[in-house]
Amino acid sequence: MTETGTEISIDDLPIRDDLRGRSPYGAPQLDVPVALNTNENPYPPSERLAGALAGAVAATAAGLNRYPDRDAVRLRAGLAAYLGHGLDTRGVWAANGSNEVLLQILQAFGGPGRTAMGFEPSYSMHPIITGVTGTGWSPQQRGPGFGIDPDAAVAAITREQPDIVFLTSPNNPTGTALPLEVIERVAAAAPGMVVVDEAYAEFRREGTPSALSLLPDHPRLIVTRTMSKAFALAGARVGYLAAHPAVVDALQLVRLPYHLSAVTQAVAATALDFADELLGAVKQLREERDSLVAWLRDRGHAVADSDANFVLFGEFADRSAVWRGLLDHGVLIREVGPPGWLRVTVGTPDEMAAFRTALTGVTAGGGQP
Ligand SMILES: *Cc1c(COP(=O)(O)O)cnc(C)c1O
Repeated sequence: MTETGTEISIDDLPIRDDLRGRSPYGAPQLDVPVALNTNENPYPPSERLAGALAGAVAATAAGLNRYPDRDAVRLRAGLAAYLGHGLDTRGVWAANGSNEVLLQILQAFGGPGRTAMGFEPSYSMHPIITGVTGTGWSPQQRGPGFGIDPDAAVAAITREQPDIVFLTSPNNPTGTALPLEVIERVAAAAPGMVVVDEAYAEFRREGTPSALSLLPDHPRLIVTRTMSKAFALAGARVGYLAAHPAVVDALQLVRLPYHLSAVTQAVAATALDFADELLGAVKQLREERDSLVAWLRDRGHAVADSDANFVLFGEFADRSAVWRGLLDHGVLIREVGPPGWLRVTVGTPDEMAAFRTALTGVTAGGGQP
């Protein structure tokens, strides 16, 4: 780099005014013994699955001189079969993580002069991706217990007429799932698209519904999912959605050609073949989650009901001190959500034992709720 090159900073570049002063999104990627901060699945692919993935990549490698299937038909068919609900390839779309799916939704249905609405606290990537596409953001607040009051939601939608409404269920960072009634009321009131982000769907407790069942009656409803959490495939970057086929047609106007690599498609399709095995681990994580919630409540903490693979708990006068104290014990969790609360991802039994020991140590000397 030249002398002048080193003196140039981002501020010297003709960057968009609305990007000036922003910092890149992301949780700290610290090297710690127990990482419970990004809602990853703690169970790596089994040897059998890892072998199958390697085989799929090897088979793909011989054809990498060619562009991939632009429409990812095999993968979409597999995802449709996995989701059920009468879905087929035309009603399913896939991209590099559900974050890219969300970006494509914003590109097709948002943009300058348009607005997206969300109910906070929720997934912070929703307003960020919204902003990146020049779409306005209309934040609304969740109510008691981190739920969404349908009357308040309908009133906000009627008043603001957003082009896109985000509903996260189960919600991140609170773990809260929405009753179908709330989604139906929102879908009926919304003039534009309604996106239900179901990144944690597989972790729902028994009897908690999915918005997939509403798709046949709601052509402007989109349900997004990911292979990052339940399928333990965060490193592969695979997200997808289910919606009316016309929605998929719209997304194809904004997707980059060949956006999903042949390697990614092969890896994702192969992992789908192991759905039963992977969902077995999810069941274990759900049980671990439920006992974590019970343990935290026993200790007198406030704990949000969780249908996800993480738990939001509090309330701490100084949550940063608790977060740092846990880190001193080698346990990294996430300082996110409403003031006073912390979020911990559900890990292996050993990791959760380390978390319980660390939290007991950190809260023993005061700083308790
Ligand atoms: C983790 C998460 C995602 C997943 O993003 P990917 O890009 O698929 O890894 C999407 N939505 C929410 C609410 C999440 O917490």
